[in-house]
Amino acid sequence: MVDTRAVADWHPATKLVHGGAERSQFGELSEALYLTQSYVYPNAEAAEARFTGADPGYVYSRYANPTVRMFEERMALLEGADDARATASGMAAVTVALMALLRAGDHIVSARALFGGCLYIVEDFLPRFGVTSTLVDGRNLDEWRAAVRPNTKAFFLESPTNPTLELVDIAAVATIAHEAGAKLVVDNVFATPLQQHPIQLGADVVAYSATKHIDGQGRCLGGVVLGDAAFIQAAHAILKNTGPSMSPFNAWVLLKGLETLPLRVERQTQNAAILADAIGAHPAVTRVLYPGRKDHPQFDLAQRQMSGASTMIAFEVKGGRAEAFRVENALRLISISNNLGDAKSIITHPPTTTHQRLTPEARARLGIGEGMLRLSVGLEDARDLVADMTRALDTLL
Ligand SMILES: *Cc1c(COP(=O)(O)O)cnc(C)c1O
Repeated sequence: MVDTRAVADWHPATKLVHGGAERSQFGELSEALYLTQSYVYPNAEAAEARFTGADPGYVYSRYANPTVRMFEERMALLEGADDARATASGMAAVTVALMALLRAGDHIVSARALFGGCLYIVEDFLPRFGVTSTLVDGRNLDEWRAAVRPNTKAFFLESPTNPTLELVDIAAVATIAHEAGAKLVVDNVFATPLQQHPIQLGADVVAYSATKHIDGQGRCLGGVVLGDAAFIQAAHAILKNTGPSMSPFNAWVLLKGLETLPLRVERQTQNAAILADAIGAHPAVTRVLYPGRKDHPQFDLAQRQMSGASTMIAFEVKGGRAEAFRVENALRLISISNNLGDAKSIITHPPTTTHQRLTPEARARLGIGEGMLRLSVGLEDARDLVADMTRALDTLL
């Protein structure tokens, strides 16, 4: 039987269908779901060998599980990383990634425009364990440079950012991080593993919420961290001993999600480009932010750094909160929710939901106005999405 693991020269779509798959003695076509917590050893000596590591076989599913392992190997193959570790959620992935790199007395420099949970980790959680932080405008390379201290050990960023779809120059920030002797961690959720390759751009660690595009069908939570062998060893020790491991069932769902990821991301991105133009042309809209449009302030960087313009759009309607709410409430096809990357299109009003905890000043600093809406574009027919959005925007005229 062909060993389908570690076939590094496959193209991405092939890696996503076959990567990491390991068949049992039954030869199943679809990856097996090993819904088991523990593993039986043939004898006492074998049990001892598993625990000492002399036999690398499975011990307990908090440590590792064959279905989870297939998901990790598929992700590592796609990302071009030494290895991966799957986690219970995207937030578990970010937490494990940063805790693996940092200890008391260290300092982290992070972009200010972060997913809410990530901002909590950097601003509130890590300081409780003696890690100090400096937040910078991720677009401004001078701010990254100026924030470095002798004890800076990690840089952290998302690009494109949530919800304003600003970009950070990953290669440039990686250079600054490495000159400072720090590791760069990139949360690559918005770009997906297909449209941006942080490791190739110089990042050391990549984190994903698999809840988003990787599942892409609204079913389960999951996350994954990727990096070199030393990082994976540190991340594995934390995961296996603190417990935010991925459930085998979720790994199985996510393996199925990976098979169709390129098709979904490609179509959702095509739909997003069509919708961004329709929204941008509507008289009730003051600005639209989409990395694939020439009027995006960092269009050139998007062209350089990303191989697709993402499935997400941000836009601002004339007026403020009341007008944004009116648009949301007039939508019939697009759901009001806060997930993203899903087959179903989703609209979010960041100031009152995902970014509600920030002060109005902090939101303004991030460019999040009261009339801003974030749209995650799904797999519906673009004509129906445009019709729904146009009808909703027309209520403001
Ligand atoms: C959703 C998200 C997370 C958190 O992922 P969960 O799976 O919800 O824990 C982290 N970062 C970004 C950019 C996200 O969009």
